[in-house]
Amino acid sequence: MQPEATPSDINNVIAAVESKGWQAHVSQGSGMTVIGLQGQGQPLDPFHLGQLPGVRDAVAITQKFKIASRAFRPENTTFQLGDITVGSDELLVIAGPCSVESREQLLEAAHAVKEAGAHFLRGGAFKPRTSPYAFQGMGEAGLKLLAEAREATGLPIVTEVMSPKKVALVAIYADVLQIGARNMQNYDLLNAVGESQKPVLLKRGMSATIEDLLMATEYILKYGNNRVMLCERGIRTFDNKYSRNTFDINAIPLLKELTHLPIIADPSHAIGVRRHVAPMALAGVAAGADGLIIETHPDPDKAVSDGDQSLTLKQFAELMVKVRAMAAAVGRKI
Ligand code: PEP
Ligand code: MN
Repeated sequence: MQPEATPSDINNVIAAVESKGWQAHVSQGSGMTVIGLQGQGQPLDPFHLGQLPGVRDAVAITQKFKIASRAFRPENTTFQLGDITVGSDELLVIAGPCSVESREQLLEAAHAVKEAGAHFLRGGAFKPRTSPYAFQGMGEAGLKLLAEAREATGLPIVTEVMSPKKVALVAIYADVLQIGARNMQNYDLLNAVGESQKPVLLKRGMSATIEDLLMATEYILKYGNNRVMLCERGIRTFDNKYSRNTFDINAIPLLKELTHLPIIADPSHAIGVRRHVAPMALAGVAAGADGLIIETHPDPDKAVSDGDQSLTLKQFAELMVKVRAMAAAVGRKI
């Protein structure tokens, strides 16, 4: 719609598209309203829609993903998370252990990452493990420890939810719901977090194409939940002898072009090797990521999950010094 379109112009367009059997998805940009057509209505002539009062332009979005696309929303989606406006020139840093293991472990990590300059605390209470015999997470007790760590440090919490039935529970404690790589195409879960209206960190599946990721995103967005961050965390390629996954750094500039949503880089799960996490983190920032998520542990060699890729607290603090320099080099504030 034109910036000067009146509410009645907007309602008129909504009525016009609904009368043809479409649902109108209304989104407020900076000074501009965008009305997206969703569903399967009768064909509509973009020329005819373009003639309605207050309409600036009517375009057919040819990409399969609609609400996630830059065509739908040319400017970056930004939203406030704690002290940070994600998707703006401010770089978001999320850090903490792979799993919540104990009060001591979590609080020590939380205080240290806060001190080093992280903005968010991560930690899994429900863990998706390749082996059913591996540690599965502390469950609600872990969520309570995360809430305690937030109370103690002021850092908001990112934590994973694995099942639609647990969304309500995790949403009580979490500031951001993480969907793990293994669940990127769990459509019941995507629907549930979409409906929850909580901010979401959606991780790319290990064998998912960029388009698969954007189509999964669409499930969340269609509930009007626009506070979604996408995360590149490495994909499976033919070579996993020396690294856990292959950091698809291409995905960062490509996603920044294809979608208006913030993109987070996860070098920890991508390379999976502690001594190589720092250069990959810097590469993520250089490639244009809006944020980083870094696994950090007080004693990585004793971690119950992902110790091999977890930085010590000291290494994380050292990395933050370099992240600041890299952020400055690419015009980001931190
Ligand atoms: C995690 O963040 O600890 C995790 C399980 O990540 P991913 O889903 O990317 O493997
Ligand atoms: Mn992990």
